[in-house]
Amino acid sequence: MSTVDMAKIVSLSKRRGFVFPSSEVYGGLGSTWDYGPLGVELKNNVKRAWWRANVYDRDDMEGLDGAILMNRLVWKYSGHEATFSDPLVDCRECKGRFRADKTGEIDCPKHKNRKVAGCSANLTEPRAFNLMFKTNVGPVEEDAALAYLRPETAQSMFVNFQNVVNTRWRKIPFGIAQVGKAFRNEIVPGNFTFRTREFEQMEIEFFCKPGTDDDWHKQWIESRYNWYLSLGMRAENIRHYVQQSDELAHYAKACTDLQYRFFPEREDEEKQWDELEGIANRTDFDLKMHSKGKSEHNGVEYVNEHATERLTYFDQEAKERYVPYVIEPSAGADRATLAFLMDAYSEKLGKDGDARVVLRLHPHLAPIKVAVMPLARNKPAIVEVAHKIKQDLQKSGIRAVYDDTGAIGRLYARQDEIGTPYCVTVDYDTLGEGKDGDASGKDTVTVRDRDTWEQIRLPIEGLKAYFLEKLS
Ligand code: ATP
Repeated sequence: MSTVDMAKIVSLSKRRGFVFPSSEVYGGLGSTWDYGPLGVELKNNVKRAWWRANVYDRDDMEGLDGAILMNRLVWKYSGHEATFSDPLVDCRECKGRFRADKTGEIDCPKHKNRKVAGCSANLTEPRAFNLMFKTNVGPVEEDAALAYLRPETAQSMFVNFQNVVNTRWRKIPFGIAQVGKAFRNEIVPGNFTFRTREFEQMEIEFFCKPGTDDDWHKQWIESRYNWYLSLGMRAENIRHYVQQSDELAHYAKACTDLQYRFFPEREDEEKQWDELEGIANRTDFDLKMHSKGKSEHNGVEYVNEHATERLTYFDQEAKERYVPYVIEPSAGADRATLAFLMDAYSEKLGKDGDARVVLRLHPHLAPIKVAVMPLARNKPAIVEVAHKIKQDLQKSGIRAVYDDTGAIGRLYARQDEIGTPYCVTVDYDTLGEGKDGDASGKDTVTVRDRDTWEQIRLPIEGLKAYFLEKLS
């Protein structure tokens, strides 16, 4: 079980260059974060692994990279303009603003050991607060130019449904995948990168025939759960949460969340868990909402006066036209990155008896795969060989770095802390100048394993094949 609390992850992230507070030299901007040199690699690896599993390894998926700014009408007909809001309460005493459904969880900023709910006498009635950020397109700040920063990536996949079917000769069932930024003016962001106002989503809209949707929903829940496990996430830290009917969005038929144990320090076991990804059966709601003319959903009639076509599918074989159902696995790239970081965090006693941090990231996620270091940085022949090994590994597509910024023991500890699976050390034996003139180690190096701390001696020429196999 993960026992690391968020504070340790925040500290490691700052200390080792995973995540920095954004605009820090000006005092920061609440709950905005910059991914540093290692964070950008880690998050890119998470996104790449997601894309590989959900687009390249399947035959029924296409990719998309939609614009962040879209026609305002997209958000009118998707329902976001009218309903994408959270209930909000203000506190007359401390002037704080809180999500009405979370007052039992949020600490009161004024009174120690009290939750906001404890100040109920000072809280206003809840009111709806729309979470979409507004902006203006073009130089004139008039209503007609109003646009929103997208609060989810999903809508561009719905409105491009017909484009993808037509250009890729796709037959149902198939899906569209997209990774990109989304923005929500969250009332209470926080818990590091768990809830921010600018974040990245990894979303799939999978279109299937009505009647086959329950089965596809099940398959996607399983597939997405297994993805996290395949990247080393520990089963005891991830669970399914089936949303009850009163928790479902009005258009959804069913939704299962994958929850991660983000808050292991909380006493109440139930509160330790929170959403990592939601997998919803959205029925035919979205395609109908963006279709020209009248549509009916759950007994309610909707009229779209602006769309230029109807988003339907014609099954050539069955000679049948229908509106596909949609299964939506919707994950957060930042939340997934945070969960993988927390899950990988471990402490191990070093030979000196001190606790050392070892980040046991899956090799596919590790920002750096191999660190090459010279035993003596003032010996040019050793340095030269180390540089060459680094470059050769990098040319083979293995992310490698050269590091001579400290003594070997310290360098090993630093690489453990950032999750580098392997270290390679070049020494006097490599040059054929071993102890007492021993030349038997010529052209070999030491390879050290992050998790076992075991060291083996390997010939330089075998390194590439060794690492490609280990890291594949
Ligand atoms: P929550 O209940 O935590 O607000 P949500 O149910 O509103 O999340 P969705 O709209 O289903 O979230 O978005 C899909 C995914 O996007 C979430 O599972 C989460 O990983 C990510 N996500 C949503 N909002 C944020 C945010 N403010 N910051 C970081 N990631 C987010």
